[in-house]
Amino acid sequence: MGLEEKLPSGFLLTTVEQAAGWVRKSSVFPATFGLACCAIEMMTTGAGRYDLARFGMEVFRGSPRQADLMIVAGRVSQKMAPVLRQVYDQMPAPKWVISMGVCASSGGMFNNYAIVQGVDHIVPVDIYLPGCPPRPEMLIDAILKLHQKIQGGKLGVNREEAAREAEAAALKA
Ligand code: SF4
Repeated sequence: MGLEEKLPSGFLLTTVEQAAGWVRKSSVFPATFGLACCAIEMMTTGAGRYDLARFGMEVFRGSPRQADLMIVAGRVSQKMAPVLRQVYDQMPAPKWVISMGVCASSGGMFNNYAIVQGVDHIVPVDIYLPGCPPRPEMLIDAILKLHQKIQGGKLGVNREEAAREAEAAALKA
């Protein structure tokens, strides 16, 4: 019996995907991107006390072209929204977004004309993190949940295309 017959179907592909997921989650590079008071907690998370280096991501990148994670830390003003989208577009795929704090996720207490009522109007969000502000432990928990998502990701799948397909399928159902 040949090796192919002994192995379950899809074995090799699954293994490559798992290896790629492990590599990706072990070297996430966040963009340097703070918008308001939540950014103070994000910066604290990167400092020695909380030691983000344990998760392979101590370096916040100054250029979006070298980053694959956007942590939206704070409220998003209408004026900042196109800039945020441009930074996101400049990040190479695959890329991920954490919405940090109630302001980024829903506008929070700033229910007014000047603030975007949820950054998911501007970019796709992978993890929503509640709190005002979320503590560093909460951001680390969100990062670990993102790691699980990255680990389970499929190779060669464009996330935005997949989201559009899922949306179209949901509308048909
Ligand atoms: Fe500031 Fe709270 Fe809004 Fe974060 S959630 S940006 S801490 S007001």
